[in-house]
Amino acid sequence: MIRFAFQILMRVQLARNHYLFRTVVQLQLFGNLRVMVSTKTAFIYLLGLVVVSTSCRTVDTDTGHWYKGNLHTHSYWSDGDDYPEMIMDWYQSHGYQFVALSEHNIIADHEKWVRIGQDSLKKVALNNYRGRFGDDWVVDQLDENGLAIKLKTLEEYRPIFEEPGKFLIIQSEEITNQIGDKPLHLNATNLRNLIEPQQGESVVEILQKSIDAVQQQREETDQPMIIHLNHPNFHYAVSLEDMIALRGEQFFEVFNGHPQVHNQGDSAHIGTEEMWDLVNIAYLRQGKPMLYALGTDDSHNYHRMGRQWSNSGRGWVMVYANELTPEAIIEALEAGSFYASTGVTFSKLETEEGTIRIEVAAEPGVHYHIQFIGCRQGGDHSEVFEEVDGVSGTFTLQPDQLFVRAKVLSDKQHPNPIEQLDMEMAWTQPVTHSH
Ligand SMILES: [Zn+2]
Ligand SMILES: [Zn+2]
Repeated sequence: MIRFAFQILMRVQLARNHYLFRTVVQLQLFGNLRVMVSTKTAFIYLLGLVVVSTSCRTVDTDTGHWYKGNLHTHSYWSDGDDYPEMIMDWYQSHGYQFVALSEHNIIADHEKWVRIGQDSLKKVALNNYRGRFGDDWVVDQLDENGLAIKLKTLEEYRPIFEEPGKFLIIQSEEITNQIGDKPLHLNATNLRNLIEPQQGESVVEILQKSIDAVQQQREETDQPMIIHLNHPNFHYAVSLEDMIALRGEQFFEVFNGHPQVHNQGDSAHIGTEEMWDLVNIAYLRQGKPMLYALGTDDSHNYHRMGRQWSNSGRGWVMVYANELTPEAIIEALEAGSFYASTGVTFSKLETEEGTIRIEVAAEPGVHYHIQFIGCRQGGDHSEVFEEVDGVSGTFTLQPDQLFVRAKVLSDKQHPNPIEQLDMEMAWTQPVTHSH
């Protein structure tokens, strides 16, 4: 259903969450099918619906929306420097609809205390916490070792924030493994039970065991959950060859907002975006599903801001899903019905097999540049097939081309950038020919 919705209904529909400066009208179509379009394009779509409706008559429940989410964040439950409620409060008040707090090898389901001591940051955080949620909410304890604060479990703080269709918190864990000096991190989103770090003789073995553990839990619990590979260039721990060897790895972070993850690589290592294309060349050759790319914050620092800190609001995903539930979000992610962004928003995104159509929700005074990037059949590297200066573009894959994706660059300064990624941008997922 979701893929169908994405292909047919998609004529966009941003509406909420976006800085659309055009007037938006809502068209109530047959049954529950709703489409949000700008006035500028409404007439075109009304014409188009004559055609579309003949193939849509079986659709009676499509109510897709775009949801903004961050799938990678830390709190005091592991090595973040704030309380979960403060972090959720930030995301909820900054236009996000879902967040996964992904702690290192722990889920927030038991008793845990944070000791304040003489740490000035912890004192600031506690003051802010009391100020925002009140003394009655904060559970503290003073003993011979000083003041300690009891962290709330997910089930305790979830009701403060969650609202159907408006805000969702997804249970998550950053499965944090290590081999030698190489950190091997993968996020399990919407898992039910903790997954222990894995042991192994190689990078690939450890990563594969984590992937398999999530798959096994999914089968045992019948609960949809996904795993994604985090920041492969953090300590340059995961190589291109490692990623190519994995089975069942459908997602990775093309953008991670932590300042030490080397999204862009260096003189000796390729960046994550090039890695993404090379992995997909190999995956398609091997008959594997294509790898999809996420943008995430990986935020740890909530009091110190700037390039050297991992702050919130740097990278996210926009997911087109039928509803705001973990199941629907995961279904949409697995269908490729999403894009990664550090600031650019689309007002239109259609990704039928072989074709990508995009239109940017343009902000006044900002200039946009669209690149359609892909690989030719039999090729061993990606290239820019076509470039457009402007806010919209369409590209259809030719028979001699293997896959294509779109990247949108802007000349708008990111408010809090890392590396040399100073301007806001966005990445669609790749599409290939139908089989
Ligand atoms: Zn990590
Ligand atoms: Zn992390």
